Amino acid sequence: MSDLVRPRGHQDAVTGLVQSAREGRLPHALLFTGPDGVGKFRAGLWLAAALLCEEAGDAPCGVCGSCKRARAASHADLFPVDARAHDQDELTVFFVAHREDRPSTAYQGASIEDFLGLRAAEGRGKFVVIREAHRLNEVAQNALLKMLEEPRDGVHFVLETATPDALLETVRSRVVEVRLDGLDRETCEAVLFEAGGFDRTDAGQMEEVAELVRLSGGSPGVALELGARRAPELAQLLGAALTGERAAHDVAAELWDVDGDFHGKTAFVRRRVRAETILDLGLGILADAERCLAGGDPAPLRHGPAAESLAATAAFASTPARRRMGRAWLEAREDLRLNLSPEGLVDRALASLPR
Ligand SMILES: [Zn+2]
Repeated sequence: MSDLVRPRGHQDAVTGLVQSAREGRLPHALLFTGPDGVGKFRAGLWLAAALLCEEAGDAPCGVCGSCKRARAASHADLFPVDARAHDQDELTVFFVAHREDRPSTAYQGASIEDFLGLRAAEGRGKFVVIREAHRLNEVAQNALLKMLEEPRDGVHFVLETATPDALLETVRSRVVEVRLDGLDRETCEAVLFEAGGFDRTDAGQMEEVAELVRLSGGSPGVALELGARRAPELAQLLGAALTGERAAHDVAAELWDVDGDFHGKTAFVRRRVRAETILDLGLGILADAERCLAGGDPAPLRHGPAAESLAATAAFASTPARRRMGRAWLEAREDLRLNLSPEGLVDRALASLPR
């Protein structure tokens, strides 16, 4: 896997886990928690690769046969479980347990049970790394629970999720949580230049990276996604509408013209993802403006400049108007779960702005 990269920002945490393993103290099941896109899955793969490495150091050496196989995603003792890599939204029981009877639309690959049934090929243990463990449905979690309850020598599980509450209490009681937080701006920018294809010698791109890192709150994965969605442009339009600098109905049309990449299987889902991005950005600006109004420093905020301008407007200073706006945006965001028109919901949120 090309994902075998140094877990920037989490180096100390992961090195500590490698050292625990060397002393025979690594819990057999770990749960990496922390914000989306900060590299929790990569950290899990890196930990596994370090413990499978023939050199037995604190980090994968990167050159031995084991490290090469880990990098090429062909290591017989490393089993990444990733719903999205198989175009599935949910980690169903077929990812976890062996079942003969599976529908043709289900995941068809090997299960964790199949993987664990094989003898460790290289004798340094077997590692299961589960991406976005909140995607495990209840049946799958119960199947996994059986494996967690009966730990076998040399078998290690690393689960990761930003929403550990989505896991059953029984599963959570069997894993040791390790918190991996957002990165500081400098580290996050470094990851973007390294992995995001940005050019450090281009002033425009330098500025774009700084903006994306600020909007992401220190998550390279989120920053890249926001970049693809052209979030800085959307946020700028929203800032203009919220502060009354531009008429809301003019901005409404332009929000749908920004040429961003919104993933989804159907056109409707893509429109809904765009609306979700727009409403989340608007809610972010409103929340940051509240912080400014309460005397907070705008500099470290995701939407610092826009929030500072908004907090200075007469409309925002009025408590009833501010509450009405907040409620309208929140309700529109919640109603996105219903099958309502995404454009209609964004219009509804924008209509709450004082004219
Ligand atoms: Zn190695």
